[in-house]
Amino acid sequence: MSKIKAIRGMNDILPSQTPVWQYLEKQVKETLASYGYDEIRTPVVEQTDLFKRSIGEVTDIVEKEMYTFLDRNEESLTLRPEGTASCVRAGEEHGLLFNQTQRLWYQGPMFRYEKPQKGRYRQFHQIGVETFGMASADIDAELIMLSARLWRKLGILDAVTLQLNSLGSLESRQAYKQALVEYLAEREDQLDEDSKRRLGTNPLRILDSKVESTQRLLEDAPVLTEYLDDESRQHFQTLTDLLDQAGISYEINPKLVRGLDYYCKTVFEWVTDKLGAQGTVCAGGRYDGLVQQLGGRATPAVGFAMGVERLVLLLETLDVVPAAERASFDLYLAAEQKGLQGEVMAIAEAMRDQISGLRVRTHCAGLKNINSKARQTGARYIVLIGRGDDSEGLVAKLWGEDELIATVPLNEIVNTVTKHWAV
Ligand code: ATP
Ligand code: MG
Repeated sequence: MSKIKAIRGMNDILPSQTPVWQYLEKQVKETLASYGYDEIRTPVVEQTDLFKRSIGEVTDIVEKEMYTFLDRNEESLTLRPEGTASCVRAGEEHGLLFNQTQRLWYQGPMFRYEKPQKGRYRQFHQIGVETFGMASADIDAELIMLSARLWRKLGILDAVTLQLNSLGSLESRQAYKQALVEYLAEREDQLDEDSKRRLGTNPLRILDSKVESTQRLLEDAPVLTEYLDDESRQHFQTLTDLLDQAGISYEINPKLVRGLDYYCKTVFEWVTDKLGAQGTVCAGGRYDGLVQQLGGRATPAVGFAMGVERLVLLLETLDVVPAAERASFDLYLAAEQKGLQGEVMAIAEAMRDQISGLRVRTHCAGLKNINSKARQTGARYIVLIGRGDDSEGLVAKLWGEDELIATVPLNEIVNTVTKHWAV
């Protein structure tokens, strides 16, 4: 019989990898907590219409990347391809949005039918941040400062750059779209096939075409920045002033448009050159029109999402995860002779009671070559319990990485470990 395997593009995250994930998640949670953000958890499945209406019918995601299926009651459902739509849906449904401010974050798996490759998967994970009810550029700046703080904390700030642009209001974008289409339509024969198709559906996306000839053609195309309305221009100015004041450097990239339909004014991406083609580790922007588009009352909003797999890859590539964060336990505890497992477990429990933060793994099943087996675990500390000379009773030996630290009567071992653990 053929063995059943995981779905292409959907990964198992193995015990050797989870410590890095947990480390990243811990840093993110601490950072978000330090800015006073609240977590929201929403279902991974939603009505298909939610994504069609929010992301836009002519985007890559809705056109060809969604996992859509009929439920048993014939209702069309979709595995969420991103988190913003669900946040807005939940916020509206539970009255969190009208006339108030929210600073929310979420994490979890997202699903897109894409061509799997390094940094691009069919089930991937995002940690996203969404804020509601704040129209001014200070909150845009806060989001960027928050992400910059996270990169600094993780030791990757030097490996990422911030790309920034303004898409302007819906109206100014419309005017720009028209100018761009006019320019490109006159040169349609020079466009690649994908861009030709987009000319009629989603022309702004042509700006991030990876095709070189198309990029050359765009060099003389109208520039989005020149079509900005006054309010968007002022918003962008305030944002860059705040970033300057915070000492955060950025590159203004007039071709940055983002894949989704719902953005306006600020858009940004944190990009690295260390991961090859899939270099965007975090992306976001302002979407003041989305809540209304989904049937709510007009509510300004701005947010971003990080790609967890790409960040994990970056942490691995730069080798910046502290060694202690990779270990799942600190102390390995075993008996040297038979008949002492009760003592082993009692001492382990006492250590867990009394030594805060210490992670103890006990040896279970079989005592052959116990010394070398304990060493192979890579534990920072090893404690071996055994019978001393008859007169001494039970003794415990505490080993460090390669030297014997102490040999003490069994009833003193918890104190001995406490002393060494504390330093
Ligand atoms: P890309 O241009 O790389 O396809 P996107 O614009 O589709 O990205 P967003 O929808 O903005 O991406 O998602 C935010 C972040 O989630 C991305 O910057 C990236 O880090 C991550 N991400 C998106 N799609 C995938 C995927 N298929 N696999 C892994 N990470 C992804
Ligand atoms: Mg994409």
